[in-house]
Formats: sequence, structure tokens, C-alpha cells
Amino acid sequence: MIVVMKPSCSDENIKHILTVLENHGLSGHPVYGVERTVIGVLGAVGPYNTPSGLGAIQPGLEGTLEGLPGVDSILHVSKPYKLASREFHPKDTVVEIPVSCVSGGYVSIGSKGVIMMAGPCTVESEKQLMTTAEVVRKQGAVILRGGAFKPSTSPYGFRGLGEEGLKLLAKVRSELGMAIITEVMTPTDVPMVCEYADILQIGTRNMQNYMLLDEVGRVKKPVLLKRGMSATIEEWLLAAEYILAHGNRDVILCERGIRTFEKITRNTMDISAIPLIKRLSHLPIISDPSQGTGRRDLVIPMSLASIAAGTDGLLIEVHPNPDEALKDGAQSLTLELFESLMPQARAVSAAIGRDFILCEMAAHLHSGACLGAPPEELRRQQMYEMAVIEPPRRTER
Ligand code: PEP
Ligand code: MN
Repeated sequence: MIVVMKPSCSDENIKHILTVLENHGLSGHPVYGVERTVIGVLGAVGPYNTPSGLGAIQPGLEGTLEGLPGVDSILHVSKPYKLASREFHPKDTVVEIPVSCVSGGYVSIGSKGVIMMAGPCTVESEKQLMTTAEVVRKQGAVILRGGAFKPSTSPYGFRGLGEEGLKLLAKVRSELGMAIITEVMTPTDVPMVCEYADILQIGTRNMQNYMLLDEVGRVKKPVLLKRGMSATIEEWLLAAEYILAHGNRDVILCERGIRTFEKITRNTMDISAIPLIKRLSHLPIISDPSQGTGRRDLVIPMSLASIAAGTDGLLIEVHPNPDEALKDGAQSLTLELFESLMPQARAVSAAIGRDFILCEMAAHLHSGACLGAPPEELRRQQMYEMAVIEPPRRTER
């Protein structure tokens, strides 16, 4: 339910409505627009053992609210997710990330600029991380990705360096001025990962780990919520609702491919999810064509398609020597391929009227003749990769 206030309503009127809602065991979430304020009405979000029915919206409440001073009308949100829906929050949410390598000291995700988050799948060593970070930053990437805690389908797969990996990320962050995105896997690790990361990543396997969603909902750190590999759009938005309902409004969604009957790719990249999310929700969306395809040769085309479809940014795996990567080598771009992606990504962004956010030191790159097709040599390398790359293993690793 949404209470739409009159343009002339006072702060007192709003406060009064919030009190009335509280007395009914409900919570009110005001959104202050330019012309008027609306208040989203939600049932209480309690601990996992809260008896169902507590804080439910009772019949008759609508009439009570309608009669209160300052109220214009009452609307019903037709979707099961409320705070994540456009109906409740028509304006785009913009998530601001502090980052020192851009002028102004922060970047906005979900605004006009398209952002690049790039780096290795997994933090393996200082040398591997620093080499990758220097190249991606030189090309303009503002946010460095790298997993320290890695989910692995097989218990014998590499599980990450843990806190040691977080320390390496923090070191590169302080030396290069980039922001850091890294995955958090358990509720108990949330405070520790918060100390190092600028954005907390919730992986596909944890999209419905409700205890973890509760926990990241309580902290003041932006969260990138990956789509579960078998999750519908509605389930994904309901997972986002958990985080929002606990008070953390800095939620970024990430399309990373879903399971279908197709086996040639690791996942099927659901490009249609990008404009669909923009229609259903106000939250920013990032595209991850690395997990989305599992194939190096498809990462650049799917990146460009994602930008054309309206993504707010890309999350790309890059490795100095993908053949020796401890994880996800088959889908990691080489440093050279990453260099060839950037001018193309910029050109597609410009074609649809969007800026591409660049690290300050890269702002002079990708201009003029650089825009458009990659240089001949890189194009050849890309074609070579397409011809010889082994089909990826067919299961989620
Ligand atoms: C990753 O980004 O490396 C990763 C493990 O992603 P996902 O959770 O989408 O598989
Ligand atoms: Mn990966």
C-alpha cells in the first residue's frame, strides 16, 4: 500500500502517519519527491521466527489513513516486492561509491554513466592482482573485482585466499585509488568483508540465503545482488526486497546468466532481463557476461549487447594469463582483449547517449580514432580465440 501525500502536506502530517502505522505494527517508508511525498506501507520485517500475520495490513486501515490530514490518496502496489518496485519508487535509484581515481571522489551507479568493474575472478597473488588492476585501471576501469571467498560447486575447487585476499585487495585499492567489489558468503563474515570492500557481492548461489540477505540489509555498504542461476525475475526482486526492507537502500542487481537446456555456453545470458528490470524496478543493474557465457569469445559481444540493452555497468573477469588461472580461466579476458573491449564499450555507450565513466588517468584514452572497431591485430586475436577456445565445462564450477 502507498499513501500519496498532498503537495501541501507538512512534516507533522508525515510524522503522524508514521506513528499511526507503527501503532498498527507496520512500517512506513517515506520517499520525498520533488512535487510530493509518498509513504510505502509494509508489514514488519522480523527475525526468521516471527509468527506470520504479525504486522499484516488490516482491513479498515485504508479508510483510517485516507481521513488523516495531508493525505491525498491510497494506492495498492500490485507486485509482491514493494520497496524494489517502480510503483513505489518511480525515480531511478543512484548508488554512489567513493573512489579516489575519479574527479569528485565518487562514482554514481544507475545514473547516466556506464561503469566498468573488472579484475580477476579470484585473488590468487599480489602480482596477479596488481598486474591486472594496473591494466584495467589504465584502460579506465574504476572498480576492481576479485574474489577472496569463492563459492565452488566442487569441494575440491579453489575456495579463495580468505582474509589474506581481502588484504591484497585493500593494498591495491590504496595504491591505485580504485574501489573494491568482493563476495561475502556468510552472515558472520559480513563485518570483516565490510572493513575492506566498497561493494559487497552476493553470489548466484546465495541469492536466496535469507540470513545473509538480512545481514547485508543491516549494514551501510552497497550490495551487488547476483541473480540466482535458476531464479525468476520476481524471485530475484524479492531477494532484493529483503535487503531493502532492513534499511539498506544501496542495492545493485546483477544479471549473470541463467540455466537453460543449452550446453555450449555455461549459462544463458538473459539480456532481456536488463530492460525488464529497468521497467519493473528503480534499482541499477550490472551485467556479468563472464559468468553469463563462460566463454572468452562471447564476453565482448555480450558486453556490447548489454550496454545497448541499457545496463548501468559491466562486471568482467580479466587475468594476465587465463590458461593458468585457478578459477574461470576459460571465461577470463586476456589483458589485450580487455584493452580492445574498452573503446568498443565506450562507442556503444555513446551511440545510445550515455557516458562511460573512466578513471581520471584514462580520460584521454579511447578518444577520436580509437572509438569503434578494435585495431586489426586485436580483432585477429579475438577471431583466433573464437576458433580455438575449448568449449567450457558444462557445469557451474
Ligand atoms: C564470480 O563473480 O566470480 C562468481 C562466482 O559469480 P556467480 O556468483 O555469479 O557465479
Ligand atoms: Mn568467476
